[in-house]
Amino acid sequence: NTSITIGSTNTCTPVTIGGINADPVIMAGPCAVENREQLITTAQAVKRAGAQVLRGGAFKPRTSPYQFQGLGIEGLHLLAEARNLTGLPVITEVMEPGMVEIVAQHADVLQIGTRNVQNFPLLLATGRNSKKLPVLLKRGLSSTLDEWLLAAEYIIAAGNPNVILCERGIRSYDPQTRNVLDLTCVPLLQQLTHLPIVVDPSHSTGRRELVPIMSRASIAAQAQGLIIEVHPDPDTALCDGKQSITPEQLEKIIHETTMIAHMI
Ligand code: PEP
Ligand code: MN
Repeated sequence: NTSITIGSTNTCTPVTIGGINADPVIMAGPCAVENREQLITTAQAVKRAGAQVLRGGAFKPRTSPYQFQGLGIEGLHLLAEARNLTGLPVITEVMEPGMVEIVAQHADVLQIGTRNVQNFPLLLATGRNSKKLPVLLKRGLSSTLDEWLLAAEYIIAAGNPNVILCERGIRSYDPQTRNVLDLTCVPLLQQLTHLPIVVDPSHSTGRRELVPIMSRASIAAQAQGLIIEVHPDPDTALCDGKQSITPEQLEKIIHETTMIAHMI
């Protein structure tokens, strides 16, 4: 079981994910960085709730070009400020190979989104990033496990062994949920690979009322972490409000999942 340290290159509290019997790592924050106040408020609140890593999108891969696309570079600066204020390492998405070094200057983990799982130039660029920052590689909307693992191999073969896999649901036919959370993949991947695996209960369900129970189920299935969308006022979120929870709900999830992790 490989363990990966997050946050060792910036001034923040580093956290280790993976390895044997490690506590689950909770990454939480807004889908998108919307403005300074929203991000700083959320960062402080998720820290108080017990999260160890701050998530937030500066570059957003939106389905429609008319939806909020993220603050871009300004969002990266706000994330770095939030890290300085809270000590939480930061994870954010990178969408193009040419942006990897710029995002790596501000982030502690590079996220590759579901739509880019087979963007081979992007995989290679994150594999070659000069700081060897960890890469969180989301499962593609319809990736088989072999395709996903081979995508991870692109990053590793390019020179960066620090890959975290993230199950975020796969596409199916029933619109009741945004995707279908494939929890079976967690124990299966533990047979197939040494890489840490986390679950995203937000994008996999698309429904905030399902996030607490699927978080508990993920940890019971031995996921090594969770990445959860949190917003101070989910109904007004510019992106993914329907699946975002409040900091108070996050605190309860962390309490419950910690107990489950200690039982198994
Ligand atoms: C995200 O985490 O903000 C995101 C866009 O997720 P996904 O790539 O899983 O849709
Ligand atoms: Mn989102």
